Amino acid sequence: MTTIMTTSNRRYHITTFGCQMNKADSERMAGILEDMGFEWSEDPNQANVILYNTCTIRDNAEQKVYSYLGRQAKRKHSEPDLTLVVAGCVAQQEGESLLRRVPELDLVMGPQHANRLKDLLQQVFDGNQVVATEAVHIMEDITKPRRDSKATAWVNVIYGCNERCTYCVVPGVRGIEQSRTPEAIRAEIEELGRQGYKEITLLGQNIDAYGRDLPGSTPEGRHLHTLTDLLYYVHDVPGIERIRFATSHPRYFTERLIKACAELPKVCEHFHIPFQSGDNEVLKRMSRGYTQEKYRRIIDKIREYMPDASISADAIVGFPGETEEQFQNTLKLTEDIGFDMLNTAAYSPRPGTPAAIWDGQLSEEVKSDRLQRLNHLVNIKIAERSQRYMGRTEEILVEDQNPKDVTQVMGRTGGNRLTFFTGDINELKGQLVKVKITEARAFSLTGIPVKVQEAVLV
Ligand code: SF4
Repeated sequence: MTTIMTTSNRRYHITTFGCQMNKADSERMAGILEDMGFEWSEDPNQANVILYNTCTIRDNAEQKVYSYLGRQAKRKHSEPDLTLVVAGCVAQQEGESLLRRVPELDLVMGPQHANRLKDLLQQVFDGNQVVATEAVHIMEDITKPRRDSKATAWVNVIYGCNERCTYCVVPGVRGIEQSRTPEAIRAEIEELGRQGYKEITLLGQNIDAYGRDLPGSTPEGRHLHTLTDLLYYVHDVPGIERIRFATSHPRYFTERLIKACAELPKVCEHFHIPFQSGDNEVLKRMSRGYTQEKYRRIIDKIREYMPDASISADAIVGFPGETEEQFQNTLKLTEDIGFDMLNTAAYSPRPGTPAAIWDGQLSEEVKSDRLQRLNHLVNIKIAERSQRYMGRTEEILVEDQNPKDVTQVMGRTGGNRLTFFTGDINELKGQLVKVKITEARAFSLTGIPVKVQEAVLV
């Protein structure tokens, strides 16, 4: 039986959990739904296609999915036309067992199937309950993602991950590395430039792996297509003023890449390079493939070429067996580097990962105590680092209105610091504005647009 949808009941809502890859997938799926004639509904209770794009990295994200899903499953008893979809990493990991747990579900789809949403929904509308979690070759992406911001957009360049970090579920759920061709990536960026986007972030779970699955090598035996080559290939796309990339892996980060970032004016001097632990023994057990000394050398090299570069990272505390002394090494690295931003997390065992079943799991008390101590240090260091912006003129790409003060707009510096200043969002959205920084807090800045300030002086 086919469910007939009228215009009035074609409304969708997507709730996204987790990382930037999930956010990018959600945008892509929103684009597909809009192409199918669905309209966004802010209120999930008014939507008839509800999609949860899930994440298994944090326990609470997984629990939240189940609680949201439970509420909508009840609604389905009185509104049988409601379509419930679970996508992302929980869907990939749980597969059919999700249907047993929540029989009201219509579609369970792993992250590799995001581009197939239209076909899969069609099968659902034809009366089927569908599970799509088998490994697939990702077809070139021809859908036009709906972008959340008019100024900045994410562009996937490599899907999956071939690393085997012992705490991470990504390789199991996102599959092996699959790079898009440079031509397809450039075509997407050109389209974004035509649409008025000013900034793009090239995305991959391990972006430094870009191209190693594509054919071809140079006479010196290097892969023909690398992230560095990709930056040179896309940096002159008309309309695009800023290029970022994430997430970098210290194991594969090269000096050639650093040189390219210093040389190419549109590439932001902002690097997100997770170190995870400052202790070599812990890094080894995490299977990260580098030492803390190597990490420090990378940062030194970046600062040699770009003294003002902003550095952000991720760190995990309380990995199984981590001693107080090993944790101190993480504090030491954090102290020494002077990060512009550090995302911290207490280790949480993820099903199906090696470290989840190891001896030496630490108590929640120890983990949360270490997390608090690290966060305390991070707040101090980041506030110090922020001070260097005081009195400087920074170029801000305006993204939105300040939700807490409608007289202000907000955007980011090239180094990715959130910045507020007085202005009209309708006039300034998507504009690059020179702003003199007058206040520097740990995580954000406030300033005055340079032209306005000159006018005041005159
Ligand atoms: S590099 Fe490691 S942490 Fe990152 S996605 Fe791959 S396995 Fe996970």
